[in-house]
Amino acid sequence: MTCDRCDGLIETGDVHYLVEISLTADMDPTHLGGLSSDALSDGLQRALDAAASLSEAEAMASVHEKRAFVLCGPCRDAYRANPLARPLPGASGLIH
Ligand SMILES: [Zn+2]
Repeated sequence: MTCDRCDGLIETGDVHYLVEISLTADMDPTHLGGLSSDALSDGLQRALDAAASLSEAEAMASVHEKRAFVLCGPCRDAYRANPLARPLPGASGLIH
């Protein structure tokens, strides 16, 4: 087995880690209350038009998707430290 992040070999019996990601579409319901019915209709029509151009699998994935990855120990530590892969302070090399 190999690590999905670094491609390093994970020997049989070595400790490894499973990252499961559940990505779900969400919308702030309080935002809907401030929209007119025309705006809601327009938004719904745009969503339907966008969905019509997707395959069933793509449409489902745009609403909810689950993925799983195997990580080695060092990659687990890196993932825990920065799970959203945000730029780290100072990573740009700029000093001002
Ligand atoms: Zn790794």
